[in-house]
Amino acid sequence: MPMPLGHTAIGLVAFETAQTTQRPGNRLALFAYITLLANLPDLDILFGLLLTGNGSAFHRGPTHSLLFALVAGYLAAWLMRRWSRGPQLGFAMCGLLIFSHVVADMLLTSAPVSLFWPLELNFSMGYSDWGNVIQLAIFQSVQDFVIAVLAGIYLLILRKMRGTSVVHDLLMALVRRGARSTR
Ligand SMILES: [Zn+2]
Repeated sequence: MPMPLGHTAIGLVAFETAQTTQRPGNRLALFAYITLLANLPDLDILFGLLLTGNGSAFHRGPTHSLLFALVAGYLAAWLMRRWSRGPQLGFAMCGLLIFSHVVADMLLTSAPVSLFWPLELNFSMGYSDWGNVIQLAIFQSVQDFVIAVLAGIYLLILRKMRGTSVVHDLLMALVRRGARSTR
Protein backbone atom coordinates (compact mmCIF):
# COMPACT_ATOMS: atom_id res chain seq x y z
CA MET A 1 0.00 0.00 0.00
CA PRO A 2 1.30 3.44 -0.67
CA MET A 3 1.88 5.12 2.68
CA PRO A 4 1.30 8.80 3.55
CA LEU A 5 4.13 10.15 1.37
CA GLY A 6 2.87 8.32 -1.72
CA HIS A 7 -0.77 9.25 -1.15
CA THR A 8 0.16 12.88 -0.55
CA ALA A 9 2.20 12.97 -3.77
CA ILE A 10 -0.70 11.43 -5.69
CA GLY A 11 -3.09 13.89 -4.04
CA LEU A 12 -0.89 16.81 -5.14
CA VAL A 13 -0.91 15.44 -8.69
CA ALA A 14 -4.71 15.15 -8.63
CA PHE A 15 -5.03 18.65 -7.21
CA GLU A 16 -2.69 20.23 -9.73
CA THR A 17 -4.21 18.38 -12.66
CA ALA A 18 -7.77 19.37 -11.78
CA GLN A 19 -6.95 22.88 -10.60
CA THR A 20 -8.04 25.46 -13.14
CA THR A 21 -8.20 28.72 -11.25
CA GLN A 22 -5.63 29.91 -8.75
CA ARG A 23 -6.89 30.69 -5.33
CA PRO A 24 -4.63 32.61 -3.06
CA GLY A 25 -4.76 31.68 0.58
CA ASN A 26 -2.67 30.19 3.31
CA ARG A 27 -0.36 27.77 1.51
CA LEU A 28 0.52 25.73 4.56
CA ALA A 29 -3.16 25.22 5.32
CA LEU A 30 -3.80 24.25 1.70
CA PHE A 31 -0.97 21.71 1.84
CA ALA A 32 -2.32 20.37 5.13
CA TYR A 33 -5.82 20.01 3.63
CA ILE A 34 -4.53 18.13 0.59
CA THR A 35 -2.40 15.85 2.77
CA LEU A 36 -5.28 15.15 5.12
CA LEU A 37 -7.82 14.43 2.39
CA ALA A 38 -5.46 12.26 0.35
CA ASN A 39 -4.78 10.12 3.42
CA LEU A 40 -8.23 10.23 4.99
CA PRO A 41 -9.35 6.67 4.03
CA ASP A 42 -6.44 5.18 6.00
CA LEU A 43 -8.00 6.44 9.22
CA ASP A 44 -9.46 2.94 9.28
CA ILE A 45 -6.00 1.65 10.29
CA LEU A 46 -6.05 3.96 13.30
CA PHE A 47 -9.58 2.88 14.22
CA GLY A 48 -8.56 -0.76 14.05
CA LEU A 49 -5.47 -0.18 16.18
CA LEU A 50 -7.33 1.85 18.78
CA LEU A 51 -10.41 -0.36 19.01
CA THR A 52 -9.03 -3.87 18.53
CA GLY A 53 -5.23 -3.54 18.52
CA ASN A 54 -5.29 -4.82 14.92
CA GLY A 55 -4.72 -2.21 12.24
CA SER A 56 -6.09 -4.56 9.59
CA ALA A 57 -9.41 -5.12 11.36
CA PHE A 58 -11.33 -2.49 9.36
CA HIS A 59 -8.70 -1.62 6.77
CA ARG A 60 -9.89 -1.09 3.18
CA GLY A 61 -13.51 -1.37 4.22
CA PRO A 62 -16.10 1.42 3.93
CA THR A 63 -13.56 4.27 3.95
CA HIS A 64 -12.05 2.90 0.74
CA SER A 65 -15.15 3.39 -1.38
CA LEU A 66 -16.69 5.79 -3.87
CA LEU A 67 -19.53 6.50 -1.46
CA PHE A 68 -17.11 7.51 1.31
CA ALA A 69 -15.27 9.84 -1.10
CA LEU A 70 -18.57 11.53 -1.98
CA VAL A 71 -19.91 11.83 1.58
CA ALA A 72 -16.61 12.79 3.24
CA GLY A 73 -15.81 15.12 0.32
CA TYR A 74 -19.14 16.86 0.79
CA LEU A 75 -18.58 17.18 4.55
CA ALA A 76 -15.03 18.47 4.09
CA ALA A 77 -16.16 21.13 1.60
CA TRP A 78 -18.96 22.11 3.96
CA LEU A 79 -16.53 22.44 6.89
CA MET A 80 -14.22 24.61 4.77
CA ARG A 81 -17.08 26.92 3.87
CA ARG A 82 -17.92 27.26 7.54
CA TRP A 83 -14.32 28.10 8.36
CA SER A 84 -14.14 30.71 5.66
CA ARG A 85 -10.73 32.12 6.59
CA GLY A 86 -8.99 28.93 5.48
CA PRO A 87 -8.41 27.82 1.86
CA GLN A 88 -11.56 26.82 0.05
CA LEU A 89 -11.75 23.54 -1.81
CA GLY A 90 -15.05 22.68 -3.43
CA PHE A 91 -16.96 19.44 -3.08
CA ALA A 92 -15.59 18.07 -6.37
CA MET A 93 -11.98 18.74 -5.37
CA CYS A 94 -12.41 17.27 -1.88
CA GLY A 95 -14.07 14.18 -3.31
CA LEU A 96 -11.36 13.86 -5.95
CA LEU A 97 -8.55 14.05 -3.37
CA ILE A 98 -10.15 11.35 -1.22
CA PHE A 99 -10.94 9.22 -4.25
CA SER A 100 -7.33 9.52 -5.48
CA HIS A 101 -6.40 7.49 -2.40
CA VAL A 102 -8.85 4.71 -3.21
CA VAL A 103 -7.72 4.57 -6.86
CA ALA A 104 -4.05 4.50 -5.86
CA ASP A 105 -4.64 1.63 -3.44
CA MET A 106 -6.64 -0.18 -6.10
CA LEU A 107 -4.09 0.20 -8.88
CA LEU A 108 -0.82 -0.03 -6.98
CA THR A 109 -1.51 -2.98 -4.70
CA SER A 110 -2.94 -6.46 -5.07
CA ALA A 111 -5.30 -6.32 -2.08
CA PRO A 112 -8.81 -5.18 -3.05
CA VAL A 113 -10.57 -2.05 -1.80
CA SER A 114 -14.32 -1.72 -1.19
CA LEU A 115 -14.98 0.49 -4.22
CA PHE A 116 -18.73 -0.10 -4.39
CA TRP A 117 -19.40 -0.42 -0.66
CA PRO A 118 -22.06 -1.16 0.60
CA LEU A 119 -22.51 -3.47 -2.41
CA GLU A 120 -19.10 -5.00 -1.75
CA LEU A 121 -16.98 -5.14 1.35
CA ASN A 122 -13.36 -6.20 1.51
CA PHE A 123 -11.17 -6.02 4.54
CA SER A 124 -7.45 -6.42 4.22
CA MET A 125 -6.66 -9.84 5.58
CA GLY A 126 -4.27 -10.46 8.37
CA TYR A 127 -3.07 -8.85 11.46
CA SER A 128 -1.01 -5.76 12.02
CA ASP A 129 -0.23 -4.25 15.38
CA TRP A 130 1.48 -0.91 16.00
CA GLY A 131 4.89 -2.47 15.32
CA ASN A 132 3.79 -3.96 11.97
CA VAL A 133 2.25 -0.68 10.86
CA ILE A 134 5.41 1.28 11.72
CA GLN A 135 7.59 -1.37 10.07
CA LEU A 136 5.45 -1.24 6.95
CA ALA A 137 5.72 2.54 6.87
CA ILE A 138 9.50 2.20 6.73
CA PHE A 139 9.75 -0.58 4.16
CA GLN A 140 7.08 0.82 1.90
CA SER A 141 8.89 4.12 1.84
CA VAL A 142 11.02 3.01 -1.14
CA GLN A 143 7.92 2.53 -3.28
CA ASP A 144 6.55 5.80 -1.97
CA PHE A 145 9.78 7.57 -2.80
CA VAL A 146 9.47 6.37 -6.40
CA ILE A 147 5.85 7.59 -6.50
CA ALA A 148 6.92 10.96 -5.09
CA VAL A 149 9.72 11.33 -7.67
CA LEU A 150 7.37 10.43 -10.54
CA ALA A 151 4.80 12.87 -9.19
CA GLY A 152 7.49 15.57 -9.04
CA ILE A 153 8.46 14.96 -12.68
CA TYR A 154 4.82 15.07 -13.75
CA LEU A 155 4.23 18.31 -11.86
CA LEU A 156 7.33 19.90 -13.42
CA ILE A 157 6.11 18.99 -16.91
CA LEU A 158 2.67 20.39 -16.09
CA ARG A 159 4.26 23.58 -14.80
CA LYS A 160 6.31 23.96 -17.99
CA MET A 161 3.19 23.48 -20.11
CA ARG A 162 0.99 25.85 -18.12
CA GLY A 163 3.65 28.30 -17.06
CA THR A 164 2.25 28.22 -13.56
CA SER A 165 1.75 25.68 -10.81
CA VAL A 166 -0.03 26.03 -7.52
CA VAL A 167 1.66 22.93 -6.11
CA HIS A 168 5.12 24.10 -7.16
CA ASP A 169 4.59 27.45 -5.40
CA LEU A 170 3.23 25.54 -2.42
CA LEU A 171 6.25 23.24 -2.13
CA MET A 172 8.66 26.14 -2.59
CA ALA A 173 6.90 28.01 0.22
CA LEU A 174 7.30 24.94 2.43
CA VAL A 175 11.01 24.60 1.59
CA ARG A 176 11.59 28.28 2.32
CA ARG A 177 9.77 28.01 5.61
CA GLY A 178 11.77 24.88 6.51
CA ALA A 179 15.04 26.64 5.67
CA ARG A 180 14.04 29.62 7.76
CA SER A 181 13.17 27.50 10.79
CA THR A 182 16.45 25.54 10.71
CA ARG A 183 18.45 28.72 10.59
ZN1 LIG B 1 -5.60 3.07 1.93
